Amino acid sequence: MAKATSWSKPASKVLRADGVQVSDLNTSATPGFKGDKRAGEALLAERSVVLSDLQEKLFANGRTGDNRSVLLVLQGMDTAGKGGIVRHVIGSVDPQGVDHASFGVPTAEEKKHHFLWRIRRQLPRPGHIGVFDRSHYEDVLVVRVHELVAPEVWGKRYDEINKFERKLVDDGTTIVKVAMFVSLDEQKKRLMQRLERPDKFWKFNPADIDERAYWPAYQEAYQAVLDRTNTEYAPWHVLPCDSKWYARLAVTELLIDALHGLKLDWPPADFDVEEQKKRLTKG
Ligand code: ADP
Repeated sequence: MAKATSWSKPASKVLRADGVQVSDLNTSATPGFKGDKRAGEALLAERSVVLSDLQEKLFANGRTGDNRSVLLVLQGMDTAGKGGIVRHVIGSVDPQGVDHASFGVPTAEEKKHHFLWRIRRQLPRPGHIGVFDRSHYEDVLVVRVHELVAPEVWGKRYDEINKFERKLVDDGTTIVKVAMFVSLDEQKKRLMQRLERPDKFWKFNPADIDERAYWPAYQEAYQAVLDRTNTEYAPWHVLPCDSKWYARLAVTELLIDALHGLKLDWPPADFDVEEQKKRLTKG
């Protein structure tokens, strides 16, 4: 049976973005993991139970006044597998403890506000794991690539984001940022699959093919994100995603690591246990 030792180095260390060049990434690699797909899937089944247990502890503590939370930020090009992470990683924990938000093209109302306005409204509640499927980083990715605002405007956003995340961390949120990458070829395969399978048509958007022409500009924009917002309090992890099983296992490990860092215990009873047992025995 696969064991946690299948990692030669913890995912939280090996995936750190420090010094990563997006253009040099090997998106089919499985850094730090020694096993194959079968071993990875077996380990994922085991580790999901650990994640679920830790999440329940976070939730229990939130119920008793602990204001801490965890926020998973998923950024990636189309088909990178953000939805698969939500379904297969977050799907293994109790949904009542999850605050999920996805960010698409801003609505008319959202456009009237500062770019962080809609983000602030979706932050995880105490005791919850928040999941951002896309995030405030769209405002320096798609917005930069398509010049949706002037460079002077998006250029200031990196510092604004760092300040925003600093405050979030100070207020008790552990931020786990994951940039997900597939190769251009793998993306083509995944888009083709969407066109070949009726159960995937709903995921296909003709605009996704147009976006492929902007690949180099996106690589540059992702590089700038990694260079300018990889802070010590909210570091980026760079995740090769051609192997879906690896991506799911790695994000599970990143969340386990973040939750371990909170050193959670079960909250003590705020009643006299023996007294309650006696009452129940009598009743
Ligand atoms: P997905 O493609 O993830 O399934 P949607 O169909 O809702 O989800 O589309 C998300 C789209 O919204 C993406 O093309 C993304 O680039 C775009 N988007 C997200 N945030 C912004 C933003 N701030 N400004 C412009 N476009 C955005």
